[in-house]
Amino acid sequence: MRSRFLPLIILTCATAIAPAAVFTQTSTQAPAAWLSALRPDADRLIKAALADDFAWQRLAELTDTYGSRLSGSENLDAAIEWAVAAMKADGLENVRTERVMVQRWVRGHESVEIVDPSRQSLAILGLGGTVATPQGGIEAEVLPVTSFDDLRAKQADVRGRIVLFDVPYTTYSETVTYRTGGARTAAQYGAVAVLVRAVGPIGLRTPHTGSVTYAAGQPEIPAVAVSIEDANRIVRLTERGRRVRLRLVTSGRFEADVESANVVGEIRGRERPDEIVLVGGHLDSWDVGTGASDDGAGCIVTWEAARLMKKLGIRPRRTVRVVLFTNEENGLRGANAYAERYKASAANHVFALESDSGVFAPAALGFSGSAGARAMMLQIGTLLAPLGLSEIGPGGGGADVGPIAQAGNVPTMAYLGDAARYFVIHHTAADTIERIAPEELSKAAAAIAAVTYAVAEMPERLPR
Ligand SMILES: [Zn+2]
Repeated sequence: MRSRFLPLIILTCATAIAPAAVFTQTSTQAPAAWLSALRPDADRLIKAALADDFAWQRLAELTDTYGSRLSGSENLDAAIEWAVAAMKADGLENVRTERVMVQRWVRGHESVEIVDPSRQSLAILGLGGTVATPQGGIEAEVLPVTSFDDLRAKQADVRGRIVLFDVPYTTYSETVTYRTGGARTAAQYGAVAVLVRAVGPIGLRTPHTGSVTYAAGQPEIPAVAVSIEDANRIVRLTERGRRVRLRLVTSGRFEADVESANVVGEIRGRERPDEIVLVGGHLDSWDVGTGASDDGAGCIVTWEAARLMKKLGIRPRRTVRVVLFTNEENGLRGANAYAERYKASAANHVFALESDSGVFAPAALGFSGSAGARAMMLQIGTLLAPLGLSEIGPGGGGADVGPIAQAGNVPTMAYLGDAARYFVIHHTAADTIERIAPEELSKAAAAIAAVTYAVAEMPERLPR
């Protein structure tokens, strides 16, 4: 089902419930003069973002036309060309690609089936970067474990087995360690392959891909995500005393590095063009689904900040730079190339905002920076009253702005969609435009546009 966009109602509801919650943080003080001066244009940006479903339509165009956009794929190359043309059509300035060499991993054919006690194929996805099985696949008995400790306790039984990491989801950062590190750990004890229970809170038999990393000096064994339901089934069978044999085939391979690019567009600052307010997301995605939430949405909503400024004739004091990074998912080469290219001006990046956690409500803004910078950001947060977001919390930044932020000690922000919803579809075939409500996308664009404008326009540069 597609939700319908009702901008008037959204705006009315948000306005009705928001101010009390948002203004409590500064209710003891009148707004500073510098902040009051920012309010009219911040309001215009918010209104313009909420006025229609432009962001959703643009995201739908991206994901319908180019689909999944794995690094090194023709789809990503074509999406990069499209983004450049669209930024130029928007009237952004200095629109360009910046070359990045990226690795190219190809999934190939893959399957896992139970062969004993009965034949049944499972819902699986090879992890990104997995090696191939030998020709004809691997057939072995499965050994479920519930943690790395449990694996160590059962190490005498691991040799020659397919280890299933059956670890229920708690948080992404906690559970993902089994996806990234399960293969190299099980390989130490002689496992021939690993299955990793899908890293997500619930599923509709949807496996989640994502990177696996191998360790130098350890055998590289095939690593596959298995749906929650299929992991449960294997575990129930073994708990009843059944020996479960699986046949596993993967064909993943790396090909030679290929050329890709970050896409950059700007609104040049009218007074301090060398001071950069950086916003962005990543244009690449995994090769399943269409990368709508991860991270087409982040690209579109940060790009909206610049598009809306151009449309409304707003040229802030500092330069607003939108970057659509390449290769976040399996290499982070775009982020590293950006930091390398701009290392001499890293300290002139006054602020960096990343959107790479979806836009699902209830969303929030997270900030990382000094106490002085946080105090100013909390004031800027009051400009967002019409949106009804909660107070700006901790947790700024992200993978793509990380390297430049580290190089320049740059204060960072993140737009954080509700993780409980985001990680249901993250890295799955279900990451499509259908999951995203137009009003949630517009709201993210509104918040990001207003904050970006405020940091780019405020008289004093945001303190370190
Ligand atoms: Zn992402």
